[in-house]
Amino acid sequence: TEPLLSIRDLRTVFHTDEGLVRAVDGVSFDVDRGETVCLVGESGSGKTVTGESITRLIRTPPGEIAGGEIVFDGRDLTTLSDAELRSLRGDRIAHVFQNPQGALNPVYTVGWQIVEAIRLHEDVDEPTARSRAIDLLDRVGIPEATRRFDDYPHEFSGGMKQRVSLAMALATSPDLLIADEPTTALDVTIQNQILDLLRELQDEFDMSILLITHDLGVVAEVADRVVVMYAGKVMERGGVFDVFERPSHPYTRALLECLPGRGEGAAIGGTLPPATDPPDGCRFHPRCSYAVDACSEGEQPPACAADDDPDHVVSCVHYEPGGDPSVVRDDRET
Ligand code: SF4
Repeated sequence: TEPLLSIRDLRTVFHTDEGLVRAVDGVSFDVDRGETVCLVGESGSGKTVTGESITRLIRTPPGEIAGGEIVFDGRDLTTLSDAELRSLRGDRIAHVFQNPQGALNPVYTVGWQIVEAIRLHEDVDEPTARSRAIDLLDRVGIPEATRRFDDYPHEFSGGMKQRVSLAMALATSPDLLIADEPTTALDVTIQNQILDLLRELQDEFDMSILLITHDLGVVAEVADRVVVMYAGKVMERGGVFDVFERPSHPYTRALLECLPGRGEGAAIGGTLPPATDPPDGCRFHPRCSYAVDACSEGEQPPACAADDDPDHVVSCVHYEPGGDPSVVRDDRET
């Protein structure tokens, strides 16, 4: 079957005073129905812009989708009008952000806002929408949902507010939920509760999730598949087990070694290259301990299969035909 979402060679640029920023530069990946794909990378990797490009949430200008395809359920979203896209957004595709405040209007009760979200997309009467809203608040774990229906956003704690914004996002039973750092602002206990909740809701609503995060601990918890981004490019993508147990790209390895209990727990040396002036060749080469001369020439290496698995690909010269992956791999296995 076709994936629900298929992104091919996506290019999103920003025209800035400092020059052209290729924030997303040739990114490709799929999200199947009912699965969770995690987009992971440091801030500045292009993961948020990728998520925002899907429903064109990027500000245009200065942003612009300069190329590629975003095929959602058979339709290329890059060819839709703003109005068509608006109706898709919040109907079949919903977003949840790090700061739930942004999704909630402070001057209306949360119940009213969910009722509005339901009625905007479906022709139901008010009492029906109201009982659905209460049910949603209950399902996302708001205690005493009926009473809290009439509360305002500021009357909820951070974690509860994120639950409310999830209820808003689910009001139209979306096929795809794009969640950008939904737990980053929350403390660890609440974080885990929200991740558990996402998993439950995914089953219940039979939706796909694109989860954007810098946190590999979160990825390990929820992902079916992982896309590792760096400086606007995909470095490695594959099933979560493959990527965690057999990380093949030097950047993925470096990221994983930052996790407590894995490697030395040290941060990756160096910093992201300047957005307006990325290095030639592999974007990671100034920070890579496996770099060879070829890494600083030409373009980012193409995606090549790691471990003979076409669904696990790596963009690194050592995996190109004629390259020697054991340079990275043998080191990995010791
Ligand atoms: Fe490192 Fe070169 Fe591979 Fe890039 S292409 S990850 S610089 S070895």
